[in-house]
Amino acid sequence: MDKLIISVALTGSWTTREQTPYVPLTPDEIAEQAVAAWRAGAAIAHIHVRDANGIITCDPTRYAEVREHIRAAGCDLILNFSTGGGAGRTTEDDRLAPVTLRPEIASFDAGSTNFGEGVFINSPTFLRRLARLMQEHGVKPEIECFDAGMVTNALRLADEGLLARPLYVQFVLGVRGAAPATVPQLVHLVGMLPPGTPWSLCAIGREQLPMNLAAIVMGGHARTGLEDNLYYTRGYLAAGNAHLVARLARLARELGRPPASPAEARASLGLSAA
Ligand code: MG
Repeated sequence: MDKLIISVALTGSWTTREQTPYVPLTPDEIAEQAVAAWRAGAAIAHIHVRDANGIITCDPTRYAEVREHIRAAGCDLILNFSTGGGAGRTTEDDRLAPVTLRPEIASFDAGSTNFGEGVFINSPTFLRRLARLMQEHGVKPEIECFDAGMVTNALRLADEGLLARPLYVQFVLGVRGAAPATVPQLVHLVGMLPPGTPWSLCAIGREQLPMNLAAIVMGGHARTGLEDNLYYTRGYLAAGNAHLVARLARLARELGRPPASPAEARASLGLSAA
């Protein structure tokens, strides 16, 4: 099997300092944890940014600042900018803005779902706009699929020529309102993909690590980080993103899937050099 591409989801839209003192919020903090996660074995950093009050924003200047800090550290991590925004706090236009910075990858949430007590809306019209914008700017979409319907949506957009094949899919399992984080669910979702589609998995909360291991043995890739889970183990907070990445990298090596470098991940996903 290929080397394991570890993505680290550093911040997310919602995690607060009250929940954990370790979540990075400013561009400096996000970049610092990205570099530490890279040293620990991550190849891709999935980035959300916050405003001066720690609230989710899609402000391209803050994304650009994170990228500058990461590159200034001599770090060649693949950067994946979120287009997810925050339900009720960001408009569709806001969410498109980070794509214009031409990150190597941007997230593409392939449908709508309940999300905790909110609703995460990604209408077909919005998805077509987002897909076209990514094509115009040469950005590779990471197709986030929260359930089987989103896989169908993505395959339909590929049939329309709006998403290039092979897709690069990130299954997001265990969100309250979407598909559960179970092995049978993952097997079903992977079975929907055309053969040879690279995929990765992230799972929320306590399911993060066991489902990461399921993805490793099934030949997928894996995402960890504080966006999805705050705890190293029951009752003990992870002391930053690198803490989670280091464990995943160690276990992956023991399972025969050593972590891919960013260069190896670029080759595997068909990205051109940074
Ligand atoms: Mg995200």
